[in-house]
Amino acid sequence: MRKSVLITGCSTGIGRATALAFARAGLPTYASARRLDTIEDLSAAGCRLLQLDVTDESSMTRAVATVEAECGSVGALINNAGYAEAAPMEEVTMAAIRKQFDTNVFGLLRLCQLVLPRMRELGAGTIVNVGSVGGLITAPAAGAYHMTKYSLEALSDALRIEVRGFGIGVVLLEPDGVRTQFPMTAAATMPRDVPGPYDGLKASHAEVLASSYRDGARGLLSPEAVAKVAVKAVTSTRPRARYRIGLQARFAPGLRRLVGDRGWDSLMARMFPA
Ligand code: NAP
Repeated sequence: MRKSVLITGCSTGIGRATALAFARAGLPTYASARRLDTIEDLSAAGCRLLQLDVTDESSMTRAVATVEAECGSVGALINNAGYAEAAPMEEVTMAAIRKQFDTNVFGLLRLCQLVLPRMRELGAGTIVNVGSVGGLITAPAAGAYHMTKYSLEALSDALRIEVRGFGIGVVLLEPDGVRTQFPMTAAATMPRDVPGPYDGLKASHAEVLASSYRDGARGLLSPEAVAKVAVKAVTSTRPRARYRIGLQARFAPGLRRLVGDRGWDSLMARMFPA
């Protein structure tokens, strides 16, 4: 029986490209989103559609139950939904950082918990978590986002060891910049209501974000490039524990180690003048 695939956050970007790639590969593909109207067109491409908000327990339970009823189990779970909360650490509200963790970490973990019992019974399954190069290196004004993506490194490492004996694989994708809605969503979260001590940092963060993601920016990946790796991870008989996708993802962590804390801090201070 072909592995069924459940993907979160398919309204745009990497999730949408991944749903299309799995459907094209001929696997039963469940594309999900918070709002069904944002993914309606994916059914014409062969996807089955599910409403799923990773911060809503009942929608997660319902979605997993539907796939299990129709296909026997979730063969592969692609935990893609996520966004970046942009704010200096002093200014990020506790409500905003909780929401950031609820979406990027706790929702993802909860979905793993929901699909694992059936995967264990069958002795098969793959969980692909969409991490980031932002889980390997840190820049200022996005600390909350980095916290969540660093968490996915630990979460994926622990889970992988725990479930390997049940025949279940856990894979972490670590892409660098991908051409999606991501920078726009991040920019919209930056607190700007009153002038404050971090205005210079916020301005340089906005500039770096805009220039890194502008059309033609060097090294920017297409969502399809990440989708291709997700398909490879799910269809491979021996997937790797992590896939670094893009040049920055491959080399920036090494540079970070090489220059040490002082070197990295100076580099960041030069990139993000306050
Ligand atoms: P995107 O185009 O903004 O897509 C984010 C997706 O997540 C959207 O479908 C969004 O749905 C969904 N989402 C947000 N909160 C959700 C929730 N509570 N429940 C379900 N879905 C939710 O950005 P993207 O670049 O494709 O991001 C996908 C993943 O890749 C994220 O985990 C991101 O951290 C990671 N990533 C991105 C980059 C990059 O440079 N773009 C690099 C490395 C890693 P709505 O339309 O409903 O908001």
